[in-house]
Amino acid sequence: MTIKIDIMAEIIYLNGYLIPRSKGKLSPFDHGFLYGYGLFETMRAYNGCLFHLDRHLTRLYQGAEMLGLAAKLASFDLKAACRETLRANSLKEARVRLTISAGEGDMAPEPGTCSGLTILVTAKNFIPLPPQRYEQGFKAALSSVHRNSQSPLSRLKSTCYLENILARTEAKAAGVDEAIVLNERGHLAEGSISNIFLVLQGMLITPSSESGILPGITREAVLEIAQTSNIRAVERKVELKELTLAGEAFITNSILEIMPLTCFDGKSIGTGKPGELTKNLMAAYRKLVNIETSAAGRCCP
Ligand code: PLP
Repeated sequence: MTIKIDIMAEIIYLNGYLIPRSKGKLSPFDHGFLYGYGLFETMRAYNGCLFHLDRHLTRLYQGAEMLGLAAKLASFDLKAACRETLRANSLKEARVRLTISAGEGDMAPEPGTCSGLTILVTAKNFIPLPPQRYEQGFKAALSSVHRNSQSPLSRLKSTCYLENILARTEAKAAGVDEAIVLNERGHLAEGSISNIFLVLQGMLITPSSESGILPGITREAVLEIAQTSNIRAVERKVELKELTLAGEAFITNSILEIMPLTCFDGKSIGTGKPGELTKNLMAAYRKLVNIETSAAGRCCP
């Protein structure tokens, strides 16, 4: 028997109000909808606490600055909006999405016509992937989609997510879990929904921000863990062939955390099993989450 979810009971935050999902209405002239003129953050709540909420909001504010939306954003308490949405839905383990858009404007792409922002927060119960998926690791394939490292869009988590959707569609068609995207120079950039790390000769390597990547919150946490654990880590230009030579590889994002990559374009990475350094980093990341989302942790109000 299929389980029906009562969407009436689901509460969303829309433009300053917590309302039932069924009452949420957006303008047909919202420039987020018409032109992808918006930004979003996907966050993970553990034990009722949003992990690295401040870092997600800082990235969003930086993006809003670039898109000319920061001044209007200042009158909203986004931290409270995210926390209240989580609480209103009585969720402990959750995936929370904050979306902002330029709001209603002219039918033409004239940013100056947008009157106010649209701000939406949604939260869903989160069931992690089974541990076996982490023990097997993900398979990845090279995407035909390229990142433009010179485009400001590559560094923004914008609602204009089409390139990533195309890359994901390719990955799905190829029967793999993630698409690996190169930049216009043929260097490794990231995954369609993740950042990528390699382990080569004991060193942790990840494409630098100049490679045209989204500066991932999880990527940043992994680099900090490496630093405190005396693991040599470097952010630099990464050649595609280094992925095929790597002893270990993994991808990161706020929802998957650290997922080993064990196969690329049909060939095993390293032994074809999650490597030792990857497993140590996975354990260290979980430890960090536990500390920060415990009652005394910094991620809690
Ligand atoms: N790169 C892209 C293109 C993404 O979409 C994401 C997350 O969805 C990431 C990287 C990882 O970002 P974060 O660690 O902040 O979740």
